[in-house]
Amino acid sequence: MIKLYSVRMPDLILVLKATIDIDSERRVLAAVSDMGLTGQLVRSAGNTVVVIQSDVSAIPTHLFSQMDGVAKVVRLTATHPLVLEADPAPVRVSSSSAETIFLGSGQKRHVIAGPCSVESREHILEVARAVKARGATMLRGGAFKPRTSPYEFGGLGEEALEYLAEAGKIAGLPVVSEVMSARQLEKSLDYIDVLQIGARNMYNYELLKEAGLSGKPVLLKRSMSATVDEFLHAAEYVLLTGNVNVILCERGIRSFEPRLRNTLDLSSVALIKSTTCLPVVVDPSHATGRRDLVRTMSRAAIAAGADGLLIEVHGQPDKSISDAEQAIAPDQLASIVDDVRALSEALNLVTEDGAGTSDMMSKLVASGSFKS
Ligand code: PEP
Ligand code: MN
Repeated sequence: MIKLYSVRMPDLILVLKATIDIDSERRVLAAVSDMGLTGQLVRSAGNTVVVIQSDVSAIPTHLFSQMDGVAKVVRLTATHPLVLEADPAPVRVSSSSAETIFLGSGQKRHVIAGPCSVESREHILEVARAVKARGATMLRGGAFKPRTSPYEFGGLGEEALEYLAEAGKIAGLPVVSEVMSARQLEKSLDYIDVLQIGARNMYNYELLKEAGLSGKPVLLKRSMSATVDEFLHAAEYVLLTGNVNVILCERGIRSFEPRLRNTLDLSSVALIKSTTCLPVVVDPSHATGRRDLVRTMSRAAIAAGADGLLIEVHGQPDKSISDAEQAIAPDQLASIVDDVRALSEALNLVTEDGAGTSDMMSKLVASGSFKS
């Protein structure tokens, strides 16, 4: 196994009970400190964990598990970070209105499709139905849009979340949408199934922790200027919260080439797939910025080992309020879904057909990196 990092990994993670009160949290931290250990509390709306970065090899696990308020004890026995786990389970995306989706680890390749921005209720309902009919298995759509200029359309916000949830429900598709702040994240929790952290926020470590602690699957996009190492460290922030449902997304990096919006780095996909356990999807829309290249680069991405695609689709692409140049029509999506199927068969890509588990403990224990 390649060791990418020199940072010190935690030796133990205590996952606290959801019902724990502040006094009990303080008692857990005091007990940890009385043992001569340093514990750091990481907290968000959904979850609280104590990360211990001291040598705990001589301390029996039951001394931690018996502490009042501790739900689970995760002991690190390997020297490599969480992103490098061997033999992982696929990421699991559940939603109330669609079948659970398993992504990565040799499962079927998924196509996540939808508009750049949710433009109206009718718009997202129409696109949702259209992409579902063409074989997409998840719906994307921006409610909160990161725009380079503050004078551009920034999304419909909370209103769009309601429309997205409704569209996902009617079409029977789990919903992916971007959040840019902890406040937006909290507002989104009741409406969306996968939290997207966009390229501009890949370095927002507090947001990454909040996303992890929410318990929702996280689709993390590579920043336009991030090295692979920085990208993986960002994923590590989410994994450290105990949330193992992380999907990486390669969306192109900024290069000296002016004719394309970004340069699609497919070697990063091959590299990440060969050295980590995490699923990687490719976004050929933002990577190229040109609808005429989306199909070709989708094919290339699947051939390079991507576990899925994230594609911008619009009923009338030229009329898209944002990113019109890269939006494709539903019928073009159908061709891409056909390509993905054909390539998966030709390259024998699907090796797992059973439903895996992504329960944190079983995944960590199965990896051999941890024992509970
Ligand atoms: C998006 O997917 O809507 C988006 C804004 O992409 P990125 O963060 O990759 O620029
Ligand atoms: Mn876009």
